[in-house]
Amino acid sequence: MLCRQLPELSSQSFIERLAAKSGNRRIPWSGSFELTARCNMHCVHCYVGSSQGRELSTGEVLRILDQLEAQGCLWLLLTGGEPLIRPDFRQIYIHAKKKGFIITLFTNGTTITPTVSQYLAEWPPSSVELTLYGLTEQTYERVTGVRGSHKKCMRGIELLMRCGVPLTLKTMVMTENRHELWAMKSFAEGLGLRFYFDATINKRLDGDAGPASLRITPREVVDLDLADEKRSDDWKKLFKSYSGPPPDPDRLYVCGAGRTYFHIDSVGALSACLMSRDPSYDLRTGTFQEGWDQFLLRVVERKRTRATPCQACQLMAVCGQCPGFAFTETGDPEEPVTYLCEIAHLRARVFGYNIPSVP
Ligand code: SF4
Ligand code: SF4
Repeated sequence: MLCRQLPELSSQSFIERLAAKSGNRRIPWSGSFELTARCNMHCVHCYVGSSQGRELSTGEVLRILDQLEAQGCLWLLLTGGEPLIRPDFRQIYIHAKKKGFIITLFTNGTTITPTVSQYLAEWPPSSVELTLYGLTEQTYERVTGVRGSHKKCMRGIELLMRCGVPLTLKTMVMTENRHELWAMKSFAEGLGLRFYFDATINKRLDGDAGPASLRITPREVVDLDLADEKRSDDWKKLFKSYSGPPPDPDRLYVCGAGRTYFHIDSVGALSACLMSRDPSYDLRTGTFQEGWDQFLLRVVERKRTRATPCQACQLMAVCGQCPGFAFTETGDPEEPVTYLCEIAHLRARVFGYNIPSVP
């Protein structure tokens, strides 16, 4: 029965009310949990790389989930590697659902079986986000490196849709699959599914620069923005209302990393965000509360140690530059990333933002 005392809220109003109530307090509303670094695919562009040690056991994962709930975490992204290859995934997932987290699940889709789709339907996540690496078998498997994976992925999509599991399709655009981007979009929209893409390929977390060779050029990235009506409108709106860089450009972290969100990797290392993994706090020997209240607070309060062009840049808040991306790219969290810098300047020019000169 619907409760007449409780008005229905859209998720946007819910988030706005939460933000208003919490003021400037640091609360770990949202986090990503990489349940494993292992995967059944060998994608050419994958940033995850090899695991740095012994994966968290079932008991350790459940204990951490309990601690996240106690600290107020609401939105939880379960990711990998491929999270569904953990034999205990179902146990972990249902435990997280019972804790009340609003869950997004990232998967490559090839591991979806009738059993998996049924329990996801019974315990629905907020969304399953499934990455398509190409529309044709040839392109898809050139990216994943695994024969038969395209068929399994298509089967996974079909199973999830048949069970009514909320599903979004997405892709990473790279030299290997850019020619099928619009076909992937039409395929998803033809099924009535949301589709989005990202073109900023990261180097591997272990420092391997290989994936960067698959990047499309900054000009191509912006041409894709222009070719997609919604993206183009979003960028125009963003630049129209853009009020310049954040108030304290000396801070290294100017986003919500370590203030409203966090990341936990497959060996239990807590860090400020999914891309910014160094430094980290060991949740095997400490608690999430200690890690969040003390360790991550020190991390995100760090100031820049030297002057870089980013510090005085008017585009700082609309550029993908961040300490995590910079660290994987250059080994230095403060160093500007040339690729992102070119994209940000091109976008500003193309979407009509005149960069004000700084006095
Ligand atoms: S499916 Fe995802 S995690 Fe697995 S190899 Fe590909 S990019 Fe990496
Ligand atoms: S990378 Fe370039 S565009 Fe981005 S914030 Fe730094 S200087 Fe500005």
